[in-house]
This record gives sequence, C-alpha cells and structure tokens, in this order.
Amino acid sequence: MFLDIEPIAAPNTIFDSHAHYDDDIFDDVREDLLQTLPKYGVAYVINNAVDCKESAQKCIGMSHDYDYCYTAIGVHPLNLEDNGPLDTALLTELLKTPKVVAVGEIGLDYHYTPETKPQQLELFEKQLILANELKLPVIVHDREAHADTLELLEKHRPTGVLHCFSGSVEMARDVLNLGMYIGVGGVVTFKNAKKLVEVVKMLPDDRLLLETDAPYLTPVPYRGKICNSAYISVTAARIAEIKGYSIDKVLELALENAKRLYKI
Ligand SMILES: [Zn+2]
Repeated sequence: MFLDIEPIAAPNTIFDSHAHYDDDIFDDVREDLLQTLPKYGVAYVINNAVDCKESAQKCIGMSHDYDYCYTAIGVHPLNLEDNGPLDTALLTELLKTPKVVAVGEIGLDYHYTPETKPQQLELFEKQLILANELKLPVIVHDREAHADTLELLEKHRPTGVLHCFSGSVEMARDVLNLGMYIGVGGVVTFKNAKKLVEVVKMLPDDRLLLETDAPYLTPVPYRGKICNSAYISVTAARIAEIKGYSIDKVLELALENAKRLYKI
C-alpha cells in the first residue's frame, strides 16, 4: 500500500527532515513501514511532534525504537486550543530527551484559524525564546503568515528551517540572510509550484533541506497516496532537474545540511 515506489535512492542517502509518523493514519502500518524505509535509501527521519502530549510521546517512542528516527517537539499553532497555555517546564523537559534535536513544529497558521492570531503569536514567540535558551534549532510552519513569521524570526534570530517553504524569492532571501535553511517537499513537483521553482533555482547548495511532511503533500505522480519518506527520491529528482544536478548530489547536499543543522 505504501511502498509502491522503486527504491531508486542509493542506500543511506535520504534525510527526511520533516515527517509525522505519529499520525493516526499510520497506526496499522507504522511498524512495517518504519522497518522497511531504510531499504528505500532512508538514512534519517525527523518526526515533528505537534504537542507536548500524545504526539510527543509517540515521536519519542519511535526515536527509541528506530536508530534512524529523531524527534522535534513543539506546540503547533493549530494545536493551540487543545493545549491551553504553553507548559514551558514540560516542553523544556521533553526537549532534553535523548535524540530530540529541534523545537518544532512551531509557527503561525492564518489559513485555518486567523481568529487565534494573538495567541499564536504569543505561543510562537515563547517557543522561539526557549529554543534560543536551549541552543536548539527551530522548525517553522508558516501558512499565510509570512510577514509576522519574518518579523518574529528577525527579532529572535534562531537557527533552523522554514519548513515547506511557500514564500517568494524575496522572502527566501530574507530567511537566508538570517542564516536559516529552507525545507522543500513534494509541493515542488506540483504543476502550480512556479514560485517554489524560482526559490529552488536561487537556493544556495548549503541551505537546502528535503522533507515529506508525511502523511501529507505526496509528490506527483503519487498524489492520492499517503506520503512516506521513500518519495523523497521523487522530490529530489525534480530539484535535480531544476538545478541541473544529479539526484545523488541533491540527496547528498540535503543530508549534509540536515546533519549540520541538527548536529547529528
Ligand atoms: Zn508538518
């Protein structure tokens, strides 16, 4: 059901910097899938927890059970209401767990819940401050909130990545000037991805991260399937085409960059 793709990536070449294998959709297949992914070239996966509760515990569990799984933990803007005010002490404790390498997924989402903007800004800022205190990179979600996201990043200047980057070339320049990385996933294979293609063209080799956002954002031609890290080879192939590189080179750059950022 999941691994309907030829294993085209060389062994140990894929670094999926953003996945959600804690998602309920994987409950029946998680073990099989996670045991099989390395056969498809997957060398590292960072599971991004979206809360300090069940999601964090499931992600930490996967890091414990699978050598190649690492974890990021943060409260996602869409989980604001479930969580109430941020429990900074609990998040701090979770972030000190072995193999937790970043604060994320955190950020702003004005697409689904623009009415919670003030609370989102407060939650995001608190987590940026905590990441800096703990000297951890951040993994940032920005949906229809480019200006506010940039403003807070410029104020706190964390290390980290803008995941599933959806901004313009101008915004990419601002993000790069802050020393941050840009996460590119399946969206780059979509027909309407014109803005992202321009960003990929100008993106320096040392700032690219690859990601799936599994189970979401499955690349073409696998739309309709549940996304998994093996599909990164398809995303890498499209980036290779845009930049005039080999697939191996794209995978290697993204792997080196992610290892540097997450100190793995
Ligand atoms: Zn995500």
